[in-house]
Amino acid sequence: MHETRFMMGTLVSFTIVGMPKSAAEEAIHAAADEMQRVEDVFTIYGTVDNEIKRFNHAPLGQRVRLSDEINVVLHTAMRIQNQSHGAFNPALGALNQLWGFSKTPPPKHPPDQAIIEEKRQDLSHCLHEDQQGWWRDSAQCQLDFGGIAKGYAIDRGIHLLKKHGVEHALIDAGGDLRVMGQHGEHAWRIGIRHPRDAKKLLGVLHLKGDVSVVTSGDYERFFIDKGQRYHHILDPQTGYSSQRSQSVTVVGKRAMLTDAWSTAVFVLGKDAMKIVHKKPFQVLWVGKKGEREQSDGWHMLVQ
Ligand code: AMP
Ligand code: MG
Repeated sequence: MHETRFMMGTLVSFTIVGMPKSAAEEAIHAAADEMQRVEDVFTIYGTVDNEIKRFNHAPLGQRVRLSDEINVVLHTAMRIQNQSHGAFNPALGALNQLWGFSKTPPPKHPPDQAIIEEKRQDLSHCLHEDQQGWWRDSAQCQLDFGGIAKGYAIDRGIHLLKKHGVEHALIDAGGDLRVMGQHGEHAWRIGIRHPRDAKKLLGVLHLKGDVSVVTSGDYERFFIDKGQRYHHILDPQTGYSSQRSQSVTVVGKRAMLTDAWSTAVFVLGKDAMKIVHKKPFQVLWVGKKGEREQSDGWHMLVQ
């Protein structure tokens, strides 16, 4: 059973094997609806009203209550911000909107340097929480879950499939995915895109059980201006696209974590391999010149 839906700015495909068609269909609809709900809760785009947008426009210092669900994801994001020494930052919404990579049509030139400078200031510890809720201490401090919410949505989708009795499935949201069980007699085979040649693969993973694979790449949303590539993964230190990587793939159980860490490692570059080394992830990093580095257990995933 295979179905696709357009969500989160991408095609999301659901594959279920080893289950009668009608039950699989029902499970897919429940998972897709849940993922759409998650998108609506976390998005800073479009016309839907949500708590995140209200927070981003609340007066400075004013407490805003965020749902338990947002709290969990925000605390996770801030923990990863901490562990990545600020490379991952869930508060760069204003800077991200200034660049406008999610707009149609997408931008062709970088914004004014002075405005970038203004929007990147004071973002590292600008979010605060107390008994009354969350508040922000600068106008440019705006939540942006673009680096983590897709992974969280995939986890929720898988959760819903499990609730419907599904044992073998794949949810693929434009290359960011999570599998469960296996594909018939075999493991799930997952190709990893070459960052400079869409027709080539960096490798094929063979996965069984509960595993997510998330890639952050500078080829996903980008433009080239005066020979320079600008893309949607921003270095909070400079306010510009991070220049240290072409792509980073992280494999681990929960897509929320592999999503956030793929973004964090992308920004940090090769040095981040030391940080993720201690985590239950496998990582493939591709640098600016196409050079590659992989974590110790990576070869076990490739056959
Ligand atoms: P991903 O494609 O998962 O690497 O996430 C990129 C998206 O996350 C962007 O479109 C922004 O919404 C957001 N983002 C960009 N740079 C960062 C960063 N340094 N930390 C956290 N989120 C970011
Ligand atoms: Mg990410």
